[in-house]
Amino acid sequence: MSTSTPYTRFQTTLHSVLKKINLERGDNALFDEPQFSHKKDLTITRDDGSKDTFHAFRIQYNNARGPFKGGIRFHEHADEDEVKALAALMAIKTAVVNIPFGGAKGGVQVNPKELSKKEVQQVARAYVQEFQENLGPDIDCPAPDVNTNPDIMAWMRDEYEKLTRSYSPAMITGKPLEFGGSKGRDTATARGGFFILQEMVDRLALDPSDMRVAIQGFGNAGAHMAKFLHNEGYIVVAVSDSQGGIYSPEGIDPVRIAKYKEKTGAVTGEYCEGSVCDIGRMKMDDVQKITNAELLELDCDILIPAALDNVITEDNAKRIKAQYILELANGPTTPEADAILEKNGVRVIPDVLANAGGVTASYFEWSQGRSGEQWTAKIVDERLKRVMLEGYKAVRREARREDMTYREAAFAVGIKRMMAAMKVRGWI
Ligand code: GLU
Repeated sequence: MSTSTPYTRFQTTLHSVLKKINLERGDNALFDEPQFSHKKDLTITRDDGSKDTFHAFRIQYNNARGPFKGGIRFHEHADEDEVKALAALMAIKTAVVNIPFGGAKGGVQVNPKELSKKEVQQVARAYVQEFQENLGPDIDCPAPDVNTNPDIMAWMRDEYEKLTRSYSPAMITGKPLEFGGSKGRDTATARGGFFILQEMVDRLALDPSDMRVAIQGFGNAGAHMAKFLHNEGYIVVAVSDSQGGIYSPEGIDPVRIAKYKEKTGAVTGEYCEGSVCDIGRMKMDDVQKITNAELLELDCDILIPAALDNVITEDNAKRIKAQYILELANGPTTPEADAILEKNGVRVIPDVLANAGGVTASYFEWSQGRSGEQWTAKIVDERLKRVMLEGYKAVRREARREDMTYREAAFAVGIKRMMAAMKVRGWI
């Protein structure tokens, strides 16, 4: 078992790329630690009158290219190290797709599924109260991440505007449509990954109807991806959520799963609305129940991790049968697994490119919040496609020129763009 942590895994990749692009020693230091790490405790009053306190973080990795940007996750395992790694990945990601932001991430160490809606709202507002002076449209603009959603973004904006006595729709993205959200933001993470996958499939002259896809995670990214792929003729052979998954070699209809989700939304609880909380209970013909670990090793062509990090490791990488991996989750593959996959000829489209559609649509939302414009769904979709394909092209080019994997190439593109901004600022 490896003793690595999310941040040491990030550093392993970072350092190997810095070496490959011959960066001078002194310059490396700028990438070693985040610019700012903010830590607070959030106290809420539970519905039964008792008090509860949760550790919370906002880690601001780098803002050379623009305001800090990145989501806030509510998860019991969100600790400082994990949030730090995710903040660093955000800085690389915004640079890979060339949008004018830096990278940050937030986290609250809480299991929101154990809280009532009222209690979740308190956590959201307490977060803004504690970190307010470090947030703002030109300073640091949060967004949704694991277990956070548009409602939570709305409470956070409202709290911020109350505290600062301002109108600040651009202080946060991923808001509800009726409260400053952008069309297309909800589907953007999946949509962006879908554009890249389609481009890859086209370039390789593959036929979508021959492509069997397994998707781990049925949250915002995984569920929308399943639908896009199904509609385009791909065969979605497996999906899963935190409770487990289902597999059918003939293909699964994601629309049926979405219907089941609607039907059982009430029994699966308030918080779980919008995700399938227990796919395993679905009564479907010709489907087999599988575990999340089994899903990763299925006989399929494309594997899409769309849940949490650290799932493809040195322990299971050699058993992965898919030829292509599209990382909609952040940090799903460890550096050791990367090496095994490369040896086995598996092409990995890395998180910092594959899931950048979310933050790209956030940039569109931020722009609309500042200008007062409202873009149509068509404009958002066209611009998202353009930005994603440009990012993909830059990564492909770098990979070819420097003989790198796509992850290394994406890091190289991101690091070079960050360095260029740091140079003109006179930081180096
Ligand atoms: N949480 C998303 C990510 O990891 C979106 C961040 C954003 O929109 O700022 O990319």
